[in-house]
Amino acid sequence: MIVIMQQGATEAQADHVIERVEQLGLTPHVSRGQFRTIVGAIGDKQPAHQAILEALDGVERVVPITKPFKLASREFHSEDSVVEVGGVPIGGSAVVVIAGPCAIENADMLNRIASAVAERGAVLLRGGAFKPRTSPYDFQGLGEEGLKMLRETGDNLSMPIVSEVLNAAQVELVGQYVDMFQIGARNIQNFQLLREVGDFGKPVLLKRGFASTVREYLMSAEYILSRGNRNVVLCERGIKTFATEVRFTLDISAVPVIKNYSHLPVIVDPSHAAGARQYVNALALAGIAAGADGIIVEVNDRPEESLCDGPQALLPDMFSELVGQIEKVAAAIGRTMVNTNKKKKG
Ligand code: PEP
Ligand code: MN
Repeated sequence: MIVIMQQGATEAQADHVIERVEQLGLTPHVSRGQFRTIVGAIGDKQPAHQAILEALDGVERVVPITKPFKLASREFHSEDSVVEVGGVPIGGSAVVVIAGPCAIENADMLNRIASAVAERGAVLLRGGAFKPRTSPYDFQGLGEEGLKMLRETGDNLSMPIVSEVLNAAQVELVGQYVDMFQIGARNIQNFQLLREVGDFGKPVLLKRGFASTVREYLMSAEYILSRGNRNVVLCERGIKTFATEVRFTLDISAVPVIKNYSHLPVIVDPSHAAGARQYVNALALAGIAAGADGIIVEVNDRPEESLCDGPQALLPDMFSELVGQIEKVAAAIGRTMVNTNKKKKG
C-alpha cells in the first residue's frame, strides 16, 4: 500500500510514518515529489495496517497498490521517472539515441563506429563484450578486454557506455566499467542477476524477454527496484509471434501499455526486432511516435565483416537519416532530443 502525505507535511511527520511502517514489519520506500511525499509500505500487510497508518499526523490517505508490481507501478509514483546515465537523462521530455555495434570485435572497429554514431547524434554508446549467442560455436565476445576498449572509447568521446552482463557472477566485473548494465532478453527471469544489479546500484537497461508478458516484465523490473535501485530503463525489443518476415515482432502496443502501468522510462530496440536493416528505421520511428523515450540501435560501417548481427546493423548514413527523422517525429509529438552538443553529419 502507499501512504500519501498531506501537501506541506513536515519531514518529521514523514520520518514517523517510515518508523511505523518498519514497526509493522513492512519495508518503506520513500518517493519525495515536488509537492508531496509518498511512502510505499511493501510486504505482508494485515487488514489493520491501513487504519493504523491513516491515523498518523500528516497523512492524507492510505491506498492499496492493486498491481502485483508495486515500486514499478504508476500508483506508487505517478510522474514519469527520469534515469540519469553518466549525465544523460532518459525518460524526460527529450528522447535519447543509444547506438553502437552489436559486439565489440576489436578496438579499430569500435572506434570507427563509435565516432560515426557520436558525430551523427548518439548520446550513449552501446557494445557487447559478453554476448549471449544461440550457438556455442559463434563469437562469444571479447570479455573484459572488450569492456576496457568500450570504456576508453566512451571516455574519449564523452559518451556514457552500456554493455550486457550475462550472469550474477559478472556483475562486479562489468560494473567496474559500464555506466549502465544491459540485461538481455534471455535473462529476463534470471532473478539472481536481477537482485545483484539491484544491489550494485548502477542504472540498468532491462530488455523485455521475447516470451514475457508485460506483467511478467514489470515483475522482473520489480526485482531490481525492490533492492533499492530505482534506475531502471525498460526496452521493448520484439517478441516471438507467427510472423516470419522479421526476426521478432516489435510490440509497439507494449510502449503505451507499459507507460500506463509504470512510471519507468521505456525505449525500443528496432534492430533485434527487425533482424534486417531495411526495416529498422520504420520501427524506430513507430516506437518514438508511440511514446518511447528513445531507441537503442545497432550500427556498423562494415556489416559484411561483422561477427555478430551484421544484417540488422544500420550503415552510418542510414543512422544519420534516422536521427533526422526522429527529431521530426519527436517535434510532432511535442518532444525534443537529448543532444550533448554533438555536431551532426551526413
Ligand atoms: C543485444 O543488444 O545485442 C542483444 C543481445 O539483445 P537482446 O537481449 O534483446 O537479444
Ligand atoms: Mn545484437
